[in-house]
Amino acid sequence: MSTTKNNNNLLKFHPFSSTVEPSFWLSLSKLKLHSLKLNEDPVPIQGSFSITPPTIRNSKDSGSNNSSVGGLVRIRLDQSSLSSLDTNATKDCTIQNEVRILPGKVLVVNTKEGFKQCDKNEFISTHGVPPLQEEGGEEEAVLAKLASFLVLTYMNLKDHSIVYWFAFPALTPKSGKAISYISQQPPQLLQQIWSQGQMENLHEEYHKLRMLQLQTAIQEKEKKAAYKGCPLYFIIASQEDKIQCHALSYQTFVNLTNEGNHNVMFGFLDATPSSSSSQQQQAPPMGWILRNYIAYLSIKYKLGGMNVQIVSFKPKMLRRIPLDLLNEKENESATLKKKELYSEDGGSFLLNVTVPHANDYQWPSASNTTDTTATTKQHAYKCVGWELNARSKPGPRFLNLTPLLSPTHLAVQAMDLNLRLMKWRMIPSLNLDKLSSTKTLLLGAGTLGCAVARTLLGWGIKNITLVDNGKVSYSNPARQSLFTLADCENGGKDKANAAALALQQIAGPTIQSSGVNLTIPMPGHDFTSTPDEEATVQKDIETLVNLVEQSDVIFLLTDTRESRWLPALLARSYSKMLINAALGFDSWLVMRHGLSTCTSTKSRLGCYFCSDIVAPENSMKDRTLDQQCTVTRPGLANIAASMAVELMVSLLHHEDGVDAPAPAPSTTSTSYSPGIGAQNDNVSSPLGIMPHQIRGSLTSYTLMTPTIPAFQCCTACSDAVVDAYKKDGYEFVKKACCSDSTFLKDVSGLSAFQEEAAAKMEAFMEEEDDWDLEDEE
Ligand SMILES: [Zn+2]
Repeated sequence: MSTTKNNNNLLKFHPFSSTVEPSFWLSLSKLKLHSLKLNEDPVPIQGSFSITPPTIRNSKDSGSNNSSVGGLVRIRLDQSSLSSLDTNATKDCTIQNEVRILPGKVLVVNTKEGFKQCDKNEFISTHGVPPLQEEGGEEEAVLAKLASFLVLTYMNLKDHSIVYWFAFPALTPKSGKAISYISQQPPQLLQQIWSQGQMENLHEEYHKLRMLQLQTAIQEKEKKAAYKGCPLYFIIASQEDKIQCHALSYQTFVNLTNEGNHNVMFGFLDATPSSSSSQQQQAPPMGWILRNYIAYLSIKYKLGGMNVQIVSFKPKMLRRIPLDLLNEKENESATLKKKELYSEDGGSFLLNVTVPHANDYQWPSASNTTDTTATTKQHAYKCVGWELNARSKPGPRFLNLTPLLSPTHLAVQAMDLNLRLMKWRMIPSLNLDKLSSTKTLLLGAGTLGCAVARTLLGWGIKNITLVDNGKVSYSNPARQSLFTLADCENGGKDKANAAALALQQIAGPTIQSSGVNLTIPMPGHDFTSTPDEEATVQKDIETLVNLVEQSDVIFLLTDTRESRWLPALLARSYSKMLINAALGFDSWLVMRHGLSTCTSTKSRLGCYFCSDIVAPENSMKDRTLDQQCTVTRPGLANIAASMAVELMVSLLHHEDGVDAPAPAPSTTSTSYSPGIGAQNDNVSSPLGIMPHQIRGSLTSYTLMTPTIPAFQCCTACSDAVVDAYKKDGYEFVKKACCSDSTFLKDVSGLSAFQEEAAAKMEAFMEEEDDWDLEDEE
């Protein structure tokens, strides 16, 4: 037989086409961002196809969702295509009642270059070859992988552009060995050979096989997950007028053949849309899955060189089987309902095919080309099947999802992107869920408050409450980044509310921000002059206590000393992380307040008032304008705010939170700032060390990170003060604010401490008097 003669008998095949719903790409982007990251291993996915009647093609539904529109057999992917990854979902699995599921793999490369440079031939032959060469193995498992697909893609997560290329791998025999039909027996429409009864019999039998497999899958748990829909490959046996359909199995094939009284045919479900003229003689292109079927029969059934009968089985349509129908008892109505699911024939063909030999599928391996060193394989399987692009040329397709995404969705995605990318390489242990669920309370919505809030957005913090009693004034917008001139009009908006609104305008509605307008009571600021005033302040205190209780982290960003007293006390009383930031003209302080005793240093970290030897009192008295306003170098607030937020993020990543040990001051070097080194390994979070205090100066551009333990007689955080607050609550706060400063000094024990210190100093001075005088001379 010459090859030229054969060429006329070559079978043609109709390739699959891909249809990808945007939801698939969205799910895949999420997977890439959250779990795959830099990993470039192929990920198992699945696609589905269905068979719809050709009449739908011309009617109202000319959308792209029909499987056979425009004569294409579409493999459809959507968000459920990735659900096979969810092992929980398959465990207590709902049956996958699609008409047919195909397994696939997607490989997401990390760069556009990687996409371009990927050797497409090698890719399809590496990942697309069905496991035919392996000996043994469950026949069902091999068959399940016989028809599959591959996706190679690069997704630019920043601008939502995607480049992708589908392949429907088909084993191909060596050139000159292509699949052909026997010239004396050209393909024939089955209807022209078989009687009407036989045709109906075939469809009924296929349907029964389908029902049987579905029923088995439902009853046998381990088969549930493996169920992929109606059978693609099966055996048809005809005996006189009677037709039977069997699941494809080598044993069945051998048994039927040995019985001798059957005509055994290999059937496959051909999704290729039927041609409009059903009476045509010329064979249309056959379903793509026939290529691997024949390879399978050659290699696994050892039918190479033999003539076999193949039925391209084409129902007009296949409906999903309603699951409740399976449980229905056999009665007339059930039988009727089942009959309704049968399909008419859509142009099934009978083919007489000469199966290529198994070694016709063995191509000379790469070792025959330039590289003769490494490979030991003598031969390799070769696959074809890259999809043509929209211009019917071999090449990838391009897609931009941006128009499909709502602005809000885009904003949320984009905001998260930089944070997610940090997890890829820089900080894999970054806990973004913890950050996004952390509730922050910002006391002060001025220069520091605005800057802290904006930096919190950068870290993906979504829950921000701001407290302030001021209104936005014309002097604010230039320095306070959440306000504009419009906020200053008509006497100015409430600062806290304006700032909260601005956060949502900047970062979208997923930000839960709110503003609370209240005055923080301060020692030295009597509020009992009128009953009305006292009632207001009492309510403010209640509100503040509630806010503190509901929050995870408190930022103390007010602009006077004494307004920090009550929040400092509340933070310790309710065990809340508190980060304090304060500005001088050209220096700043950021510190955390200790809550309990650190295990490593055996002392609690101090608060803002611990270094004081005076109680807080009214510092606004006798102040000139430049002393009353926060007059600072304009860059200072942003530096301090950034440090405060970064410190919080580090602390949230340490199991002890705000009580994470602070690094011990360096004993060897003259530097105040301990670096990250072996000695500090136990005091660091994934983001580095966590100092107790950060003091910076803009005149010398230096930083110090001192660690100062709590002072036992502190007027804000000592046990005595906390106990007094816990005991008397509002009455204690009232006394502290409205009586003179000796009250707090007495409660905290500071008065006694000062007296003792004074007495000691006196004694010391008396003792050393002479010596001092002598020395000065
Ligand atoms: Zn203290």
